[in-house]
Amino acid sequence: MIDIHLHDQNTYKLYDQKTYKPALFKDLTGALAVVIFQCPFLTLRAIEQFRESFISLRDRKVRLCVFVQKPRHWDERHAGGLPTENSARLKQFEAAIELLRSYGAHVNLRIGIHEKLVIIDQSILWDGSLNILSHFDTSERLHRWVSKQKVEEAIRMHKLDSCDECSRDDYFVAFSRDPESVLERIRLVAKSIVKARNADGISQRELASRLKISRASLCRVESGATSVELGTIVRVCQALGLELMAVPKFVVPCLAQLIQSVEEKES
Ligand SMILES: [Zn+2]
Repeated sequence: MIDIHLHDQNTYKLYDQKTYKPALFKDLTGALAVVIFQCPFLTLRAIEQFRESFISLRDRKVRLCVFVQKPRHWDERHAGGLPTENSARLKQFEAAIELLRSYGAHVNLRIGIHEKLVIIDQSILWDGSLNILSHFDTSERLHRWVSKQKVEEAIRMHKLDSCDECSRDDYFVAFSRDPESVLERIRLVAKSIVKARNADGISQRELASRLKISRASLCRVESGATSVELGTIVRVCQALGLELMAVPKFVVPCLAQLIQSVEEKES
C-alpha cells in the first residue's frame, strides 16, 4: 500500500482487490450525509457484501445514491421476444436493483457510463478499475483520495449531483447546482421566513414594527429580493425563531431531510 501526502488536505493511498475492503467499510461507517457509488454493473453477490454498511447508512439517514449503466434491451425487458440469455441477465440485474432499493439506495440508470467511483461526503474519493458492486475474482487497482478538490472534480465531471430521487427535493436542487441557483437559494430563505411568520400568526405590519423596519423592507426580504442587507435577514429570522447558517454543502441533503421531518411532524 502506498501512502503519499500531497499536502495536508490531500492524502492518497493505493489499494488492490485484496486490501481495499476494510478501508472502504471504515469510510462508509464514518459517512455523515451522503455516499455516491458509480459502477457500471451489479451483481447480487457483490451487493450482499455491503449489506451491513448499506443498512447502517439507511438507519443513520445517510443518502446512498447509486449510478449504474443502463443495460442493453432494458426498456424491452417485459415485452417478451428477447433471447432467453438476455432475459435472464436482465432479470438478475432487476433483482440487484431491487436489493439495493431495499437498503434504501437511490438507483439511477445512465447510458454508457463505465467509470468506477465511490464518494463519501465531501471528503473521500475512491476510483480505479474495480467494479465494486459486481466484482468477483480479478486483479484490480483502486485509489483512495482524501481531497475535497478531487471529490468536487469527480462530481462535476461525472454529473453525480443528478440523482433522480434527490432531484425531487427543493433544497437539494437549489444547493447542488452551481452557480445559477443563487436566486433559488435566496428564494428558499424567503419562503422559510414567510412560512414561519404565517405559522406564528404574525402579520407583516406587526413583525416590521417589532423589528423597527419598514413594511417595504420586510416585503423585500419575503419576496427574495437581492438588494436586502444580510443583517436585516438575520434579524427577521431571529424574530421568527429561525437561524441563518453557512453550512458545508454536503450536509445540505441531510439537513433538508431533517427539516422536512420536522415540518411533517408540525403539520
Ligand atoms: Zn440520491
